[in-house]
Amino acid sequence: MCKYCLECDWRASTADGYTEAEVSKKAIEHFVETGHTVDSLRLPPPVIIEN
Ligand SMILES: [Zn+2]
Repeated sequence: MCKYCLECDWRASTADGYTEAEVSKKAIEHFVETGHTVDSLRLPPPVIIEN
């Protein structure tokens, strides 16, 4: 899951090592702090590279 701001460069993603709950919490915090609109984008499942 990825959440990103429509009004600045803010973003948070599970790809950055956060849990989905943390990403959601960060998105709410960004909205509360700035009043910016945060949209979400569900990422495709990670590609598993087989060695
Ligand atoms: Zn923002």
